[in-house]
Amino acid sequence: MNLIEELSALQHRHGYLRDADLHELAARTHAPLHAIQGLCTFYPHFRRQPPARLEVRGCRDLACHLRDGEQALTELRARCDADAAMHFEPVSCLGRCDAAPACTVNDVPMTAQAAYACLQTPDRVPSAPDAARSSFALDPYTTTEDHYGILAEWLDATPDAIAERLESAGLRGMGGAGFPTGRKWKLVAAEPATPRYIICNADESEPGTFKDRALLAGAPHLILEGMLLAGLAVGSHEGWVYIRHEYGPEREVLEQAIAQARTAGVLGDRVLGRDFAFDVRVFVSPGGYILGEETALLEALEGRRGEPRNKPPYPGVTGLHGKPTLINNVETFAQVPRALLEGTVATKLFSVSGDVEQPGVVEAPFGVPVNELIERCGGMKDGRKLLAFLPGGASTGFLSAEHEQLPLDWEPLRKAGSALGSAAVIVVGEGADLLALAGNLTAFFRNESCGKCVPCRIGTEKAVQLIAARETQGLERLRELHETLASTSICGLGQAALIPVLSVLDHFEVQTS
Ligand code: SF4
Repeated sequence: MNLIEELSALQHRHGYLRDADLHELAARTHAPLHAIQGLCTFYPHFRRQPPARLEVRGCRDLACHLRDGEQALTELRARCDADAAMHFEPVSCLGRCDAAPACTVNDVPMTAQAAYACLQTPDRVPSAPDAARSSFALDPYTTTEDHYGILAEWLDATPDAIAERLESAGLRGMGGAGFPTGRKWKLVAAEPATPRYIICNADESEPGTFKDRALLAGAPHLILEGMLLAGLAVGSHEGWVYIRHEYGPEREVLEQAIAQARTAGVLGDRVLGRDFAFDVRVFVSPGGYILGEETALLEALEGRRGEPRNKPPYPGVTGLHGKPTLINNVETFAQVPRALLEGTVATKLFSVSGDVEQPGVVEAPFGVPVNELIERCGGMKDGRKLLAFLPGGASTGFLSAEHEQLPLDWEPLRKAGSALGSAAVIVVGEGADLLALAGNLTAFFRNESCGKCVPCRIGTEKAVQLIAARETQGLERLRELHETLASTSICGLGQAALIPVLSVLDHFEVQTS
């Protein structure tokens, strides 16, 4: 166990991290006490005070904000302030934008409405819901007995053949960057150093993004099969799933699937009876959003504060413990078996949230227009007209309703001045104050900045202030600020933090003060 896992275990045992625990850990591991305390202050999940009997957290970010989140948070806070046994805290996106406004009570996910009901009957301890189960057409198997059939077919193939097939199928990273998957696998396989590692990034934390959660709950064996095929292709025997701590029910489903795969001889020393060893372990992230950045994630896996590294070197060359490491996101791994089977990637998952009747995960062909996604989510909420939408999550630019038939695919979106990103489609209905919504996104990035780069740490706060002031001159200064952040920030958070607000200034009428 590294120090983060040790701290997580101690907190699990005692409910919080006591001084005595930290001293004991320092003595046992010979780690400096200040380093251990540095971990406690960096990761938001670690508590240094005893928790209240009911710990309530409510999401303050865009997808929840669009569904009366602010009012829900006000009510929950008022209820908790009236009872010493309750404590309320606003938090960043919980990855449950389909149940907005989203909350947790004692780490159990639920809607704000359910949380409020819990607080009215505080003697009833909330219990964890079953993880949501979904079915996906991207699952090529009709019965669970068939699982890992594609792995069995490719066990004797050359590593290069697997990567070639993925490249010709056109599979690209589904986490946001869209790097060609086959090419990435070849680069890692070509590195001479060993051991090599496979990491599945299940730390989706950006407002509006929750498709990976649905896959973890509904298709865990498909994810494991993708990781096994990656192990074959790059010559790795060790895989990790890095999952956010808020995905407790989904983690349980995944851990059950890992146990089943071990029992079935799919994971272990001899995968499907062949001379190939591969196993998968789960690492629970103590938060926050920046841990989804691949090098920050590596820092956490090595037991340090999750601050992004300078790149290059990239993880494919110098990754976990300094060794070549392949990092892909959940959906990318889940797409691998079908891409190998069919030689093409036909559909993908879109997380649709905001002003639609039924937010949720929609599987659709690449190039589906937003009006079709809205239709599949029951139409616009309360029959409102579409004003704008974010096509690819919080780091992409808003598009106006005139783009409602634009194909949601890499190239058309790039040409329209936005991006497919993580395919988190946040829908905004008429009457909304887009500048205020962009301010909400900027505040998210401000809150989640790790603070390593001064321009990001100071600049995002400055941007929040300028947006709130709504003065024409101040808003124009956001362009200069964006140039500075884009050229001097180490990672994508700072580089992209002001893209949404600039898209609002460029393409929409804004009321200034
Ligand atoms: Fe941290 Fe922001 Fe720098 Fe990224 S850009 S490393 S989040 S301070």
